[in-house]
Amino acid sequence: MTQPLDWSTKGVVNRRNTYYAATQRKFQPFEKPLILKRGRGQYLWDEEDNRLTDLLGMNLCISVGHAHPAVNAAAREQADQLPHCTTMFYHPVPAHFAEELAATMPAGEDWVVHFTNSGSEAIDLAMMMARSYTGNADLIALQGSYHGPTYGAQSVTGIDNFRHDVVLPGNVQFAPAPNAYRGAFGGDTAAYLDALDQTIKSGTTGKLAGMLIEPVQGYGGIIPMPDGYMQGAFERVRARGGLAIVDEVQSGFGRIGGNTLWAFDAHGVVPDIAVMAKGIGNGYPLGAVVTKRAIAEAMADKFLFHTYGANPMSCAAGRAVLQVIKDEGLTENCRTVGAALLVGLQDLQQRHSVIGDVRGCGLMMAIELVEDRTSKKPATDATVAVFEETRRQGLVVSKSGPDRNILRMVPPMCLSMEDVQPIISSMDAALAVLNK
Ligand code: PMP
Repeated sequence: MTQPLDWSTKGVVNRRNTYYAATQRKFQPFEKPLILKRGRGQYLWDEEDNRLTDLLGMNLCISVGHAHPAVNAAAREQADQLPHCTTMFYHPVPAHFAEELAATMPAGEDWVVHFTNSGSEAIDLAMMMARSYTGNADLIALQGSYHGPTYGAQSVTGIDNFRHDVVLPGNVQFAPAPNAYRGAFGGDTAAYLDALDQTIKSGTTGKLAGMLIEPVQGYGGIIPMPDGYMQGAFERVRARGGLAIVDEVQSGFGRIGGNTLWAFDAHGVVPDIAVMAKGIGNGYPLGAVVTKRAIAEAMADKFLFHTYGANPMSCAAGRAVLQVIKDEGLTENCRTVGAALLVGLQDLQQRHSVIGDVRGCGLMMAIELVEDRTSKKPATDATVAVFEETRRQGLVVSKSGPDRNILRMVPPMCLSMEDVQPIISSMDAALAVLNK
Protein backbone atom coordinates (compact mmCIF):
# COMPACT_ATOMS: atom_id res chain seq x y z
CA MET A 1 0.00 0.00 0.00
CA THR A 2 1.20 3.56 -0.71
CA GLN A 3 2.67 5.11 2.43
CA PRO A 4 1.07 8.30 3.73
CA LEU A 5 3.08 11.39 2.76
CA ASP A 6 5.79 12.20 5.26
CA TRP A 7 6.20 15.99 5.36
CA SER A 8 8.72 15.96 8.20
CA THR A 9 11.95 17.78 7.31
CA LYS A 10 13.98 14.71 8.23
CA GLY A 11 11.77 12.38 6.19
CA VAL A 12 11.81 14.51 3.07
CA VAL A 13 15.56 15.12 3.21
CA ASN A 14 16.50 11.52 4.00
CA ARG A 15 14.34 10.04 1.29
CA ARG A 16 15.67 12.40 -1.35
CA ASN A 17 19.27 11.85 -0.24
CA THR A 18 18.85 8.09 -0.22
CA TYR A 19 16.84 7.49 -3.35
CA TYR A 20 17.74 10.29 -5.76
CA ALA A 21 20.69 9.60 -8.04
CA ALA A 22 23.71 11.85 -7.54
CA THR A 23 22.85 13.51 -10.84
CA GLN A 24 19.57 14.73 -9.37
CA ARG A 25 20.78 15.39 -5.82
CA LYS A 26 23.49 17.88 -6.74
CA PHE A 27 21.29 20.93 -7.26
CA GLN A 28 20.78 21.95 -3.63
CA PRO A 29 21.39 25.69 -3.45
CA PHE A 30 20.65 26.51 0.21
CA GLU A 31 22.68 25.06 3.05
CA LYS A 32 19.44 24.02 4.77
CA PRO A 33 17.19 22.28 2.25
CA LEU A 34 14.16 24.32 1.24
CA ILE A 35 11.02 22.21 1.39
CA LEU A 36 8.03 23.83 -0.27
CA LYS A 37 4.45 23.05 0.48
CA ARG A 38 2.32 25.45 -1.56
CA GLY A 39 2.38 28.52 -3.73
CA ARG A 40 0.00 31.24 -4.77
CA GLY A 41 0.79 34.08 -7.17
CA GLN A 42 4.28 35.36 -6.33
CA TYR A 43 4.45 33.69 -2.93
CA LEU A 44 5.59 30.33 -1.62
CA TRP A 45 5.12 28.66 1.77
CA ASP A 46 7.61 26.22 3.23
CA GLU A 47 6.71 23.14 5.26
CA GLU A 48 6.66 25.22 8.44
CA ASP A 49 4.29 27.70 6.81
CA ASN A 50 6.82 30.52 6.47
CA ARG A 51 5.91 32.79 3.54
CA LEU A 52 8.60 33.58 0.98
CA THR A 53 8.46 36.01 -1.93
CA ASP A 54 9.45 34.02 -4.96
CA LEU A 55 12.00 35.82 -7.14
CA LEU A 56 12.87 32.66 -9.04
CA GLY A 57 9.52 31.29 -10.20
CA MET A 58 10.84 27.71 -10.09
CA ASN A 59 13.50 28.76 -12.56
CA LEU A 60 11.02 30.77 -14.62
CA CYS A 61 8.54 27.94 -15.05
CA ILE A 62 5.97 29.95 -13.13
CA SER A 63 5.13 32.78 -15.49
CA VAL A 64 1.67 33.97 -14.48
CA GLY A 65 1.79 32.94 -10.81
CA HIS A 66 1.80 29.82 -8.68
CA ALA A 67 -1.40 27.79 -8.87
CA HIS A 68 -3.07 30.32 -11.13
CA PRO A 69 -6.80 29.48 -10.93
CA ALA A 70 -7.49 29.93 -14.66
CA VAL A 71 -4.49 27.83 -15.71
CA ASN A 72 -5.27 25.10 -13.20
CA ALA A 73 -8.94 25.06 -14.21
CA ALA A 74 -8.00 24.61 -17.87
CA ALA A 75 -5.57 21.79 -17.09
CA ARG A 76 -7.98 20.14 -14.64
CA GLU A 77 -10.84 20.23 -17.11
CA GLN A 78 -8.66 18.55 -19.72
CA ALA A 79 -7.34 16.02 -17.18
CA ASP A 80 -10.92 15.02 -16.39
CA GLN A 81 -11.62 14.36 -20.06
CA LEU A 82 -8.39 12.89 -21.43
CA PRO A 83 -5.01 13.54 -19.73
CA HIS A 84 -3.00 12.45 -22.75
CA CYS A 85 -3.55 12.03 -26.46
CA THR A 86 -0.65 10.75 -28.53
CA THR A 87 0.25 12.89 -31.53
CA MET A 88 -0.65 9.90 -33.74
CA PHE A 89 -4.24 10.86 -33.00
CA TYR A 90 -5.93 14.19 -33.37
CA HIS A 91 -7.07 16.57 -30.64
CA PRO A 92 -8.20 20.18 -30.91
CA VAL A 93 -6.45 21.58 -27.83
CA PRO A 94 -2.81 21.32 -29.03
CA ALA A 95 -3.91 22.27 -32.55
CA HIS A 96 -5.54 25.46 -31.25
CA PHE A 97 -2.50 26.18 -29.13
CA ALA A 98 -0.19 25.78 -32.14
CA GLU A 99 -2.33 28.27 -34.06
CA GLU A 100 -2.24 30.71 -31.14
CA LEU A 101 1.53 30.41 -30.70
CA ALA A 102 2.13 30.89 -34.43
CA ALA A 103 0.05 34.07 -34.20
CA THR A 104 2.45 35.51 -31.58
CA MET A 105 5.31 35.34 -34.09
CA PRO A 106 6.19 38.12 -36.57
CA ALA A 107 3.70 38.48 -39.42
CA GLY A 108 4.70 37.63 -42.96
CA GLU A 109 6.14 34.15 -42.33
CA ASP A 110 4.48 30.75 -42.42
CA TRP A 111 5.12 29.55 -38.83
CA VAL A 112 4.62 25.97 -37.65
CA VAL A 113 5.00 24.41 -34.20
CA HIS A 114 6.56 21.18 -32.91
CA PHE A 115 5.69 20.56 -29.24
CA THR A 116 8.21 18.82 -26.99
CA ASN A 117 8.26 17.94 -23.30
CA SER A 118 11.01 20.34 -22.26
CA GLY A 119 13.29 23.15 -23.34
CA SER A 120 16.33 20.99 -23.94
CA GLU A 121 14.40 18.63 -26.19
CA ALA A 122 13.29 21.69 -28.14
CA ILE A 123 16.91 22.87 -28.34
CA ASP A 124 18.03 19.43 -29.60
CA LEU A 125 15.32 19.57 -32.23
CA ALA A 126 16.28 23.10 -33.26
CA MET A 127 19.91 21.97 -33.68
CA MET A 128 18.83 19.01 -35.74
CA MET A 129 16.48 21.08 -37.87
CA ALA A 130 19.19 23.63 -38.59
CA ARG A 131 21.63 20.90 -39.60
CA SER A 132 19.08 18.99 -41.69
CA TYR A 133 17.76 22.04 -43.49
CA THR A 134 21.10 23.65 -44.30
CA GLY A 135 23.09 20.47 -44.83
CA ASN A 136 25.84 22.09 -42.75
CA ALA A 137 27.18 20.77 -39.44
CA ASP A 138 28.73 23.75 -37.67
CA LEU A 139 26.83 25.63 -35.01
CA ILE A 140 27.85 28.75 -33.12
CA ALA A 141 26.82 29.43 -29.54
CA LEU A 142 27.87 32.12 -27.09
CA GLN A 143 30.21 31.79 -24.15
CA GLY A 144 28.15 31.84 -20.95
CA SER A 145 25.12 30.38 -22.69
CA TYR A 146 22.84 27.78 -21.13
CA HIS A 147 20.62 25.69 -23.38
CA GLY A 148 19.84 22.58 -21.32
CA PRO A 149 21.01 19.25 -19.91
CA THR A 150 20.56 16.81 -22.80
CA TYR A 151 23.53 15.65 -24.87
CA GLY A 152 22.75 18.03 -27.70
CA ALA A 153 21.83 21.01 -25.51
CA GLN A 154 24.96 20.54 -23.37
CA SER A 155 27.09 20.69 -26.47
CA VAL A 156 25.92 24.27 -27.09
CA THR A 157 26.09 25.30 -23.42
CA GLY A 158 29.03 27.56 -22.65
CA ILE A 159 29.37 27.18 -18.85
CA ASP A 160 31.74 24.47 -17.62
CA ASN A 161 29.63 23.49 -14.59
CA PHE A 162 26.87 22.28 -16.86
CA ARG A 163 29.11 20.39 -19.31
CA HIS A 164 29.77 16.83 -18.20
CA ASP A 165 33.01 14.99 -18.55
CA VAL A 166 32.02 12.92 -21.56
CA VAL A 167 32.48 13.24 -25.27
CA LEU A 168 29.81 15.74 -26.23
CA PRO A 169 28.57 16.15 -29.81
CA GLY A 170 31.00 18.31 -31.75
CA ASN A 171 30.86 20.93 -34.49
CA VAL A 172 30.10 23.69 -32.01
CA GLN A 173 32.18 26.83 -31.54
CA PHE A 174 31.67 29.46 -28.86
CA ALA A 175 31.94 33.17 -29.59
CA PRO A 176 32.56 35.78 -26.86
CA ALA A 177 29.26 36.98 -25.39
CA PRO A 178 28.69 40.71 -25.46
CA ASN A 179 28.77 41.62 -21.79
CA ALA A 180 29.04 45.34 -21.06
CA TYR A 181 30.17 44.80 -17.48
CA ARG A 182 32.80 42.09 -17.73
CA GLY A 183 33.12 41.03 -21.35
CA ALA A 184 36.46 41.13 -23.16
CA PHE A 185 35.36 44.16 -25.21
CA GLY A 186 33.18 45.94 -22.65
CA GLY A 187 30.28 47.69 -24.38
CA ASP A 188 31.88 47.66 -27.84
CA THR A 189 29.30 45.70 -29.85
CA ALA A 190 31.29 45.95 -33.10
CA ALA A 191 34.27 44.27 -31.41
CA TYR A 192 32.11 41.31 -30.36
CA LEU A 193 30.87 41.00 -33.94
CA ASP A 194 34.48 41.02 -35.16
CA ALA A 195 35.24 38.30 -32.64
CA LEU A 196 32.30 36.29 -34.01
CA ASP A 197 33.84 36.62 -37.48
CA GLN A 198 37.10 35.30 -36.08
CA THR A 199 35.34 32.39 -34.36
CA ILE A 200 33.65 31.45 -37.62
CA LYS A 201 36.88 31.84 -39.59
CA SER A 202 39.06 29.84 -37.26
CA GLY A 203 36.69 27.21 -35.87
CA THR A 204 34.29 26.24 -38.64
CA THR A 205 34.32 25.18 -42.25
CA GLY A 206 32.89 28.59 -43.14
CA LYS A 207 29.54 26.96 -43.86
CA LEU A 208 27.16 27.15 -40.92
CA ALA A 209 24.05 25.34 -39.74
CA GLY A 210 23.16 28.22 -37.45
CA MET A 211 23.75 30.21 -34.32
CA LEU A 212 21.87 30.02 -31.01
CA ILE A 213 21.35 33.17 -28.95
CA GLU A 214 19.47 33.80 -25.71
CA PRO A 215 18.28 37.42 -26.10
CA VAL A 216 19.01 37.75 -22.38
CA GLN A 217 21.42 35.11 -21.11
CA GLY A 218 19.78 33.50 -18.09
CA TYR A 219 22.09 31.19 -16.15
CA GLY A 220 24.94 33.21 -17.63
CA GLY A 221 23.85 35.91 -15.17
CA ILE A 222 21.20 38.06 -16.89
CA ILE A 223 23.29 39.36 -19.76
CA PRO A 224 21.05 41.25 -22.20
CA MET A 225 22.23 41.29 -25.81
CA PRO A 226 23.09 44.89 -26.72
CA ASP A 227 21.31 46.69 -29.55
CA GLY A 228 22.68 45.64 -32.90
CA TYR A 229 24.38 42.43 -31.76
CA MET A 230 21.67 39.94 -32.68
CA GLN A 231 21.10 41.68 -35.99
CA GLY A 232 24.81 41.74 -36.84
CA ALA A 233 25.38 38.18 -35.67
CA PHE A 234 22.46 36.70 -37.59
CA GLU A 235 23.48 38.62 -40.75
CA ARG A 236 26.90 37.02 -40.53
CA VAL A 237 25.46 33.57 -39.87
CA ARG A 238 22.96 33.79 -42.72
CA ALA A 239 25.69 34.95 -45.10
CA ARG A 240 27.32 31.57 -44.43
CA GLY A 241 24.15 29.56 -44.98
CA GLY A 242 23.14 29.25 -41.33
CA LEU A 243 19.87 29.78 -39.46
CA ALA A 244 19.05 32.26 -36.72
CA ILE A 245 17.96 30.36 -33.61
CA VAL A 246 16.66 32.24 -30.57
CA ASP A 247 16.31 30.57 -27.20
CA GLU A 248 13.36 32.30 -25.51
CA VAL A 249 13.09 29.70 -22.76
CA GLN A 250 13.89 32.30 -20.07
CA SER A 251 13.33 35.62 -21.83
CA GLY A 252 10.02 34.81 -23.51
CA PHE A 253 6.34 35.30 -22.75
CA GLY A 254 6.55 39.03 -22.07
CA ARG A 255 8.94 38.89 -19.14
CA ILE A 256 11.31 41.54 -20.47
CA GLY A 257 8.45 44.03 -20.67
CA GLY A 258 8.77 44.72 -24.39
CA ASN A 259 5.87 45.29 -26.76
CA THR A 260 5.37 41.63 -27.58
CA LEU A 261 5.87 38.24 -25.96
CA TRP A 262 9.30 37.76 -27.50
CA ALA A 263 12.58 39.34 -26.50
CA PHE A 264 13.95 39.01 -30.06
CA ASP A 265 11.35 41.52 -31.28
CA ALA A 266 13.13 44.36 -29.49
CA HIS A 267 16.25 43.56 -31.56
CA GLY A 268 14.62 43.95 -34.96
CA VAL A 269 15.34 40.37 -35.95
CA VAL A 270 13.05 37.64 -37.23
CA PRO A 271 14.49 34.26 -36.26
CA ASP A 272 14.29 31.12 -38.35
CA ILE A 273 13.68 29.03 -35.25
CA ALA A 274 12.38 30.09 -31.82
CA VAL A 275 12.68 27.76 -28.85
CA MET A 276 10.33 28.12 -25.90
CA ALA A 277 9.54 26.21 -22.69
CA LYS A 278 9.24 26.82 -18.93
CA GLY A 279 6.80 29.76 -18.59
CA ILE A 280 4.82 28.46 -21.57
CA GLY A 281 2.98 26.05 -19.22
CA ASN A 282 3.15 27.86 -15.84
CA GLY A 283 4.42 24.65 -14.27
CA TYR A 284 2.84 22.09 -16.61
CA PRO A 285 5.67 20.41 -18.56
CA LEU A 286 5.88 21.68 -22.13
CA GLY A 287 8.33 22.97 -24.70
CA ALA A 288 8.02 24.03 -28.31
CA VAL A 289 9.99 24.79 -31.43
CA VAL A 290 8.36 27.40 -33.65
CA THR A 291 9.89 27.59 -37.09
CA LYS A 292 9.25 28.45 -40.70
CA ARG A 293 7.34 25.76 -42.55
CA ALA A 294 10.13 25.05 -45.07
CA ILE A 295 12.64 24.37 -42.29
CA ALA A 296 10.45 21.78 -40.57
CA GLU A 297 9.65 20.20 -43.95
CA ALA A 298 13.32 19.29 -44.37
CA MET A 299 12.82 16.61 -41.70
CA ALA A 300 9.45 15.36 -42.93
CA ASP A 301 10.71 12.01 -44.22
CA LYS A 302 11.35 10.39 -40.85
CA PHE A 303 9.50 10.00 -37.57
CA LEU A 304 10.32 12.38 -34.77
CA PHE A 305 8.03 11.51 -31.96
CA HIS A 306 8.11 13.09 -28.48
CA THR A 307 5.75 10.86 -26.48
CA TYR A 308 4.25 13.66 -24.42
CA GLY A 309 4.79 16.40 -26.98
CA ALA A 310 1.44 18.12 -27.63
CA ASN A 311 0.02 16.67 -24.41
CA PRO A 312 -3.48 18.19 -24.27
CA MET A 313 -3.38 18.92 -20.53
CA SER A 314 -0.13 20.92 -20.80
CA CYS A 315 -1.40 22.59 -23.98
CA ALA A 316 -4.67 23.53 -22.24
CA ALA A 317 -2.53 25.15 -19.54
CA GLY A 318 -0.47 26.86 -22.25
CA ARG A 319 -3.56 28.33 -23.91
CA ALA A 320 -4.71 29.64 -20.54
CA VAL A 321 -1.25 31.17 -19.92
CA LEU A 322 -1.47 33.19 -23.15
CA GLN A 323 -4.94 34.38 -22.17
CA VAL A 324 -3.90 35.33 -18.63
CA ILE A 325 -0.87 37.30 -19.87
CA LYS A 326 -3.27 39.31 -22.01
CA ASP A 327 -6.14 39.63 -19.50
CA GLU A 328 -3.92 40.64 -16.60
CA GLY A 329 -1.64 42.94 -18.62
CA LEU A 330 1.41 41.04 -17.40
CA THR A 331 3.84 42.32 -20.03
CA GLU A 332 3.08 45.87 -18.92
CA ASN A 333 3.32 44.74 -15.30
CA CYS A 334 6.81 43.33 -15.99
CA ARG A 335 7.81 46.68 -17.43
CA THR A 336 6.54 48.87 -14.56
CA VAL A 337 7.32 46.62 -11.59
CA GLY A 338 10.67 45.67 -13.12
CA ALA A 339 11.57 49.35 -13.53
CA ALA A 340 10.70 50.08 -9.89
CA LEU A 341 12.70 47.10 -8.68
CA LEU A 342 15.67 48.18 -10.76
CA VAL A 343 15.62 51.65 -9.16
CA GLY A 344 15.54 50.04 -5.71
CA LEU A 345 18.47 47.79 -6.56
CA GLN A 346 20.44 50.74 -7.96
CA ASP A 347 19.84 52.51 -4.67
CA LEU A 348 21.24 49.48 -2.81
CA GLN A 349 24.30 49.66 -5.05
CA GLN A 350 24.96 53.18 -3.72
CA ARG A 351 25.07 51.82 -0.20
CA HIS A 352 26.70 48.39 -0.64
CA SER A 353 30.10 48.48 -2.31
CA VAL A 354 29.94 44.71 -2.92
CA ILE A 355 27.39 45.32 -5.69
CA GLY A 356 29.49 45.84 -8.80
CA ASP A 357 26.66 45.88 -11.29
CA VAL A 358 22.88 46.04 -11.37
CA ARG A 359 21.17 45.13 -14.63
CA GLY A 360 17.98 43.88 -16.09
CA CYS A 361 15.01 44.42 -18.29
CA GLY A 362 11.45 43.87 -17.17
CA LEU A 363 11.32 41.14 -14.56
CA MET A 364 14.66 39.62 -15.51
CA MET A 365 17.30 41.21 -13.36
CA ALA A 366 20.47 40.61 -11.42
CA ILE A 367 23.02 42.10 -9.08
CA GLU A 368 26.62 41.07 -9.54
CA LEU A 369 28.80 40.93 -6.43
CA VAL A 370 32.50 41.79 -6.63
CA GLU A 371 35.39 41.97 -4.17
CA ASP A 372 36.14 45.48 -5.38
CA ARG A 373 34.72 47.59 -8.14
CA THR A 374 38.04 48.20 -9.86
CA SER A 375 39.29 44.64 -10.23
CA LYS A 376 35.69 43.29 -10.52
CA LYS A 377 36.97 40.05 -8.96
CA PRO A 378 33.88 37.87 -8.45
CA ALA A 379 32.85 37.84 -4.77
CA THR A 380 31.84 34.19 -4.81
CA ASP A 381 32.04 33.60 -1.02
CA ALA A 382 30.20 36.83 -0.21
CA THR A 383 27.49 35.77 -2.67
CA VAL A 384 26.96 32.54 -0.72
CA ALA A 385 26.59 34.50 2.54
CA VAL A 386 24.16 37.03 1.07
CA PHE A 387 22.23 34.31 -0.70
CA GLU A 388 21.72 32.32 2.53
CA GLU A 389 20.56 35.48 4.26
CA THR A 390 18.05 36.35 1.51
CA ARG A 391 16.13 33.26 2.48
CA ARG A 392 16.14 34.19 6.16
CA GLN A 393 14.79 37.55 4.99
CA GLY A 394 11.93 35.83 3.19
CA LEU A 395 13.15 35.82 -0.41
CA VAL A 396 13.92 33.08 -2.90
CA VAL A 397 16.55 34.23 -5.41
CA SER A 398 19.14 32.30 -7.42
CA LYS A 399 22.94 32.19 -7.48
CA SER A 400 24.02 32.29 -11.11
CA GLY A 401 26.76 33.03 -13.60
CA PRO A 402 29.97 31.20 -14.45
CA ASP A 403 31.52 32.43 -11.15
CA ARG A 404 28.36 32.00 -9.04
CA ASN A 405 28.59 35.65 -7.95
CA ILE A 406 25.34 36.86 -9.44
CA LEU A 407 21.99 36.99 -7.68
CA ARG A 408 19.39 36.47 -10.37
CA MET A 409 15.80 37.64 -9.93
CA VAL A 410 13.18 36.30 -12.32
CA PRO A 411 9.90 36.28 -10.36
CA PRO A 412 6.45 35.26 -11.55
CA MET A 413 5.26 38.07 -13.83
CA CYS A 414 2.47 38.97 -11.39
CA LEU A 415 4.90 40.47 -8.87
CA SER A 416 3.26 43.69 -7.74
CA MET A 417 4.31 47.24 -6.89
CA GLU A 418 3.45 46.48 -3.25
CA ASP A 419 6.14 43.79 -3.26
CA VAL A 420 8.93 46.12 -4.36
CA GLN A 421 9.73 47.94 -1.12
CA PRO A 422 9.65 44.81 1.08
CA ILE A 423 11.95 43.06 -1.42
CA ILE A 424 14.43 45.93 -1.38
CA SER A 425 14.36 46.07 2.44
CA SER A 426 14.95 42.31 2.65
CA MET A 427 17.77 42.51 0.12
CA ASP A 428 19.28 45.41 2.07
CA ALA A 429 19.19 43.37 5.27
CA ALA A 430 20.68 40.35 3.45
CA LEU A 431 23.58 42.45 2.11
CA ALA A 432 24.17 43.84 5.60
CA VAL A 433 25.29 40.36 6.66
CA LEU A 434 28.63 41.25 5.04
CA ASN A 435 29.16 44.10 7.53
CA LYS A 436 28.86 41.85 10.58
N1 PMP B 1 17.34 27.18 -22.55
C1 PMP B 1 17.41 28.00 -21.49
C2 PMP B 1 17.75 29.44 -21.72
C3 PMP B 1 17.16 27.53 -20.21
O1 PMP B 1 17.25 28.35 -19.16
C4 PMP B 1 16.81 26.16 -20.03
C5 PMP B 1 16.50 25.58 -18.67
N2 PMP B 1 17.02 26.20 -17.59
C6 PMP B 1 16.76 25.34 -21.16
C7 PMP B 1 17.01 25.88 -22.41
C8 PMP B 1 16.43 23.88 -21.03
O2 PMP B 1 15.12 23.68 -20.67
P1 PMP B 1 14.66 22.36 -19.89
O3 PMP B 1 15.29 22.41 -18.52
O4 PMP B 1 13.16 22.48 -19.86
O5 PMP B 1 15.11 21.19 -20.65
